[in-house]
Amino acid sequence: MTNRFNVNGVMVSGDHFIHGTRVASAETFETRSPMDWDTVLGNVARGNEETAQLAIESATTAFSQWSGLSAKERAVYLHRLADLIEEHKEQIANVECSDMAMLFESLNLRLVPRGAANFRNYADLAVEHEERVWSSKGTLNRVIRTPAGPAVIITPWNAPFMLSTWKCAPALAAGNTVILKPAEWSPLSASVLADLIEKAEFPKGVFNIVQGLGSEVGNALVNDPRVKRISFTGSVPTARIIGKAAAENIVPFTAELGGKSCLLVFADADIDAAAKKAAGQFDDSGQVCMAGTRIIVEQSIKDEFLALFNKYADQHVMGDSRDSKTTMSAMIHPVHVDRVEGFVNRARENGDTILRGGKRFIEGKLWFEPTLIAPKSNQSEVVQSEIFGPVLTFQTFDTEEQGVELANSTVFGLSGILYTGNKERAERVGRLIRGGTIWVNTFLVRDLTAPFGGIGLSGLGREGGHYALEFHSDLKTLQILEGSVK
Ligand code: NAD
Repeated sequence: MTNRFNVNGVMVSGDHFIHGTRVASAETFETRSPMDWDTVLGNVARGNEETAQLAIESATTAFSQWSGLSAKERAVYLHRLADLIEEHKEQIANVECSDMAMLFESLNLRLVPRGAANFRNYADLAVEHEERVWSSKGTLNRVIRTPAGPAVIITPWNAPFMLSTWKCAPALAAGNTVILKPAEWSPLSASVLADLIEKAEFPKGVFNIVQGLGSEVGNALVNDPRVKRISFTGSVPTARIIGKAAAENIVPFTAELGGKSCLLVFADADIDAAAKKAAGQFDDSGQVCMAGTRIIVEQSIKDEFLALFNKYADQHVMGDSRDSKTTMSAMIHPVHVDRVEGFVNRARENGDTILRGGKRFIEGKLWFEPTLIAPKSNQSEVVQSEIFGPVLTFQTFDTEEQGVELANSTVFGLSGILYTGNKERAERVGRLIRGGTIWVNTFLVRDLTAPFGGIGLSGLGREGGHYALEFHSDLKTLQILEGSVK
């Protein structure tokens, strides 16, 4: 009998999923819902080095069979898994809205369907991008994507279901076997995914999921020389540790890290739309890597913008993630709320001005008010550090040059949001803002074939489209002298 417990009406396993079967660990850790921190949802297996060994052995054994299939044959499994995700959409949303306190509606309508889309897109893309053939210099050139081997995928606690599918789908489509290690603060939706992998009848060992702490099972996974790719999303300090392990084994490594994106608003923009989008950065209680957390507005529209921003920010409803009226749910963990509160308290001591919010919504609970801070200087900690909570900064500029300079003045470069009604400015400033994705007059709209990733401390490498397929493949050029073979 495996360790299963009830999460919002769904029976979820707390065990690992290795070689097609549930595996327990002698040690476990508790998982709780941020909305009701006093109640333990269940006990989750705390993997160790032995667990990592088992999972890597499983993925290594399964690799020859999985990599031997054509992209078209693998696509059948990925589409079947996508079908199952769609069929079990509500269960996944129910589990994640409890475990991570993400809003049920956004999971049900947007993020879980996106998880299915990730598998579908990569299934089809891998078929399309299987080989590239052309003639040059009297030879026939053929670029072949060869599966690389077992891939370790390490994911963060925010948007765990969507992110794990986004990262696992290209690895599997490219012909790699996978070991996914979800974050210990939100481990449960990955466990529901394991049930669906089993239902989809993937060959044993192709897609394994291990639970546990990063410093334990995560560390053992990334240090194993049998692992041929490491795909990581999380924080900069962890990326540094994993990057060293990857360097030791000379293993390609991608890192999708934090951000401190700008939301740059020019006077020629639709100011109402910009202010509404700016207040929308409090969605998910600001626990979004791409969030435009630095609002930078042309001085001439400052008052108008702030009035509109406050109007929209006032409309946020803090509450239960299952309630459709809620727009800001509880934050992930007491430790994280303390961290966010620490940033705000230090901002006060530093002489920054708290324009709104600045404290917990209810003492002792995990909701934090939507907070806006006017920093004393651009060097203030709240401007330069990723807070990862509902805390935005507000700055102004007079000239386009100053606006761009402020936008580019952090060590991060994940994304940026630009509001302007001028076509030339959209192109010009859009190119000047440092970041992997710059949205103009919109936010979060994604074409899954476009590259995604950061520059500077926001990361290394690109995910999305054929970029992720290439990362998960060893590219080989086969060059045959034309006319030399019959
Ligand atoms: P984290 O770095 O603490 O943990 C991320 C994952 O790494 C977890 O699964 C953790 O268990 C694991 N880990 C920790 N130490 C490890 C080790 N030594 N070896 C192997 N694995 C280890 O990050 P977090 O707090 O979970 O996530 C928040 C961060 O993620 C924020 O900075 C956020 O901006 C970033 N993020 C980035 C993106 C993106 O696409 N760029 C998306 C979501 C989140």
